[in-house]
Amino acid sequence: MKRERKLLLWIWWLVIVTGLFLLGFIIGWFAKFTPVKNGNDKDANQRYLRAFLDEMKAEEIKKHLRKFTRLPHLAGTEQNLRYAEQIMAEWQQFGLDSVDLVPYDVLLSYPNKSQPNYVSIVDRLGNESFKSSLAEPIPEGYEDVSDIVPPFNAFSAKGQPEGDLVYVNYGRTEDFMQLEREMHINVTGKIVIVRYGKIFRGNKVKNAELAGAVGIIMFSDPFDYSAAGVESYPKGWNLPGEGVQRGNVLNLNGAGDPLTPGYPAKEYTYRLSREHGVGLPKIPVHPIGAYDAVDLLKNMGGPIPPNNWKGNLNVPYRIGPGFQDVVSKDQKVRMNIHTNNQVTRIYNVIGRIRGALEPDRYVILGGHRDAWVFGGIDPMSGAAVVHETVRSAGRMLRKGWRPRRTMVFASWDAEEFGLLGSTEWAEDNAKLLQERAVAYINADSAIEGMYTLRVDCTPSLHTLVYDLTKQIDSPEKGEEGVSLYESWHKRDNWTNDRDAPRISKLGSGSDFEAYFIRLGIAAGRARYTKNKKVERYSSYPVYHSVYETFEIVEKFYDPSFRRLRAVAQVRGGLVFQLAASQLLPLDASQYADSLRKYAQSIAQLAQRNPDQMEMYGVSFDSLFSAVQNFTDAARGFHERLQNINTADSLQIRMMNDQLMYLERAFIDPLGLPGRPFYRHVIFAPSSHNKYAGESFPGIYDALFDIENSADPEKAWEEVKRQISIAAFTVHAAAMTLKPPA
Ligand code: GLU
Ligand code: ASP
Ligand code: CA
Ligand code: ZN
Ligand code: ZN
Repeated sequence: MKRERKLLLWIWWLVIVTGLFLLGFIIGWFAKFTPVKNGNDKDANQRYLRAFLDEMKAEEIKKHLRKFTRLPHLAGTEQNLRYAEQIMAEWQQFGLDSVDLVPYDVLLSYPNKSQPNYVSIVDRLGNESFKSSLAEPIPEGYEDVSDIVPPFNAFSAKGQPEGDLVYVNYGRTEDFMQLEREMHINVTGKIVIVRYGKIFRGNKVKNAELAGAVGIIMFSDPFDYSAAGVESYPKGWNLPGEGVQRGNVLNLNGAGDPLTPGYPAKEYTYRLSREHGVGLPKIPVHPIGAYDAVDLLKNMGGPIPPNNWKGNLNVPYRIGPGFQDVVSKDQKVRMNIHTNNQVTRIYNVIGRIRGALEPDRYVILGGHRDAWVFGGIDPMSGAAVVHETVRSAGRMLRKGWRPRRTMVFASWDAEEFGLLGSTEWAEDNAKLLQERAVAYINADSAIEGMYTLRVDCTPSLHTLVYDLTKQIDSPEKGEEGVSLYESWHKRDNWTNDRDAPRISKLGSGSDFEAYFIRLGIAAGRARYTKNKKVERYSSYPVYHSVYETFEIVEKFYDPSFRRLRAVAQVRGGLVFQLAASQLLPLDASQYADSLRKYAQSIAQLAQRNPDQMEMYGVSFDSLFSAVQNFTDAARGFHERLQNINTADSLQIRMMNDQLMYLERAFIDPLGLPGRPFYRHVIFAPSSHNKYAGESFPGIYDALFDIENSADPEKAWEEVKRQISIAAFTVHAAAMTLKPPA
C-alpha cells in the first residue's frame, strides 16, 4: 500500500514537472517568435531599450579591456589572429546568430628586424655623432613582452637620404606656403622636420614630397603632447620624452588596400605592381620622440621662426636649412630606413543578429581590433565597448527580444594601415550595403580625454543622438541624477548657432570612411573627449606609443569605467534604436538645416573675391534654391510621417526606405575631382587634413588659393562647375523625399 502511494506520488510529481517544462518551452518559443510585437509596440521597445542599456556594466567593460590588452596585436601578426578567434568564440557564446572570420590579403608594412630604422647626424667622413633611439623604454610590468614593434611610419619609402634639415612647423599646407612665399626657403633636396599634431600625418608627408623634400622626420613636441601639471607615464598620462607616435603615412583618399582599389583583396584578385600602389609615399619618413628632436633641432641655423612655430622644447626652433656654421658646419642629417611592404593576411570578425521583420535592413556597429602595440586606448577601449554591447544584446535575445532589422557587429583588422579591413569588407559587400544598409556606427577608441562627450555624425542622426543621451546617466562624479545630455550641454554648447550640445561633421581617419563617404550610408561616432578650450595637445599624449596600456585607462582616464559605460550606452543605444524602431529615427529636416549653414559658409568664402565673382559670373543662387527645395521637401516628408497609419506595413516600409536612401542620394558616382572613392557631395575628408571634415568639398577645393591661380578664368570655371554639381545633387536628394507619386 505504502509503496503504491509512493509510486502514485512519484507519477504525479513527474507529470507536474514535465508539464511545467512543456509550459516553459511553449512560453520560450512564443517569446522567441513573437518579435512582431517588439517591432510595433513603442512602449515595449522603450522597455527593451532601458533593459539593454542597464545591462551594460562598467565592471564587464574593464574585464574585456584587461583581457584584450595583455599582448601586442599588430595587424598581420599571430596574436591579432588569436584575439580575433577569441572575440569570435565569445560573440558566439553571447548568443549572436552567426559569427564569421573574413580574411583579406592586403599590403602591410613592417620594419626590417635585422636592419633597424633610425636618424643620424653624420660628418664629412660619414661618422655618426648622433643616432636616434631604436625603441621606447618598455613600461613596468611588460618587460618580458616580445614583439613590440619599434616606432616607425608604416609604408615609408626605403632609403638613406642625406641633407640639411628644414623645420616646417606642423607641415600643414599653410606652413609650407608661409615657408615658400614669405620666408622664401626652398626645401628641394632637403630633409624636412615637422612636429606631429593638428592634421593627419599622411598629409604632412604629401606636402613635404610636393615641396621637393628627400625625407621627412616627425617629432612629438611637448607643446602638443604634454598637458600642464601632468606627469609623464607611468606617473601621469603625458608622453615621456622617449615616447614616439607610430602611424601610417599613406594618402589613400579612400582606396583601401593600395594594390586592389575598388575590389576586395581576395586570393584571386588582380593586384597592381608595388610601384603603382595607391597612396604610397615616395620619400623616407621616420618618427622620433621629444628627446631625440632636441638633438636634431638644437644646433639648427637660419631664421628665427615666427612665435606660432615655437614649441616647448628647449631649442630656438630655427628654420634652417642646416646647422649653424660655427657649431657643426659640415654635419648633415641622414635617415636610415629599411621598412618593407608586404602582402599579408588580415581578419575581420563579422557577427550578426538576424532582424525579425526586416532581415534585409542592416545596422552596423564596427570598430578596429588591430593596435600599434597594446592598444590600451586605441582601439581596445572601443573594442571593449563593442564587446559589452554584443554581450548585452545577447542577454536581450535570451529574454525573447529580437530587433526588427538585422544588426551587424564588426571587429575590423588593419585600420592602422589605412582603414584596410573595413574598406575591403565594404568593397566585398558593396552591392548588398548600397541596397540594404541603414546606418553605420563607428567604434574606435572610446575615450581621448576626461571632460565630456564628443559626437561626430551625419545631420540626420542629430535628433536621435539628443533623444538618446537624455536617457543615459552622466558618468561624472557629483552628477548623480544628471543626464549625459545635460552634462555634455553644460560643457560644450553649440554656441551662437543653437542652444544644444555641439555635434561635429564627420572627417576621416577611422573605419566609417568607406561606409559614409564612398557608399553614402548614414554614419556617426561618439567618444569621451578632452576640454578643447584648455587642452591643446592633439589626440591624447601617449597616442600610438608603447605607453597606451590598460593601466593608463584604469589609473587616469576612467578609473570607475563609467565613462566607457556611458560611451557604450551611446554607441549601443544608437544601433539599438536604428535596428529596433518601427520608423527609422532619421531626421531629414536636420539635414536641411545643416545644408543651409554649409551653403552660407561656402558662399561667404567665395565672397572674399567679389570682383572676380562678378567678372566671371559666379553665383550661388542655384545652390540656395536647391537647399530651399530640400527644406520644403523635408518638412513635407516629416508632416506625412506624423500622419502615417502605423498598422500599414507597406506604408512604413516605403517611408523608411526614403529615409534610408536619403544619405545615398548625396553620392555622385563619378566622385570628387582626383578622388574617385570620395563620392559624397556634401562631406569629404579635407584635402589638407584627412581627420577633418569639409562640407561642399568640391566647391571648397575649387576655391582654395584661387587668388594665386595661374589661370583665374579656368579656376573660376571649375568653381562654377562644382556649384552646379552641388546644386543638382541637393535637388536630386530633395526629389527622393517627395511623395513617390
Ligand atoms: N587611425 C589611423 C591613424 O590615424 C589610420 C588613419 C587612416 O589611415 O586613415 O593613424
Ligand atoms: N584614434 C584615431 C581616431 O579615431 C584613429 C586611429 O588612429 O586609429 O581619431
Ligand atoms: Ca581592395
Ligand atoms: Zn590609431
Ligand atoms: Zn583607432
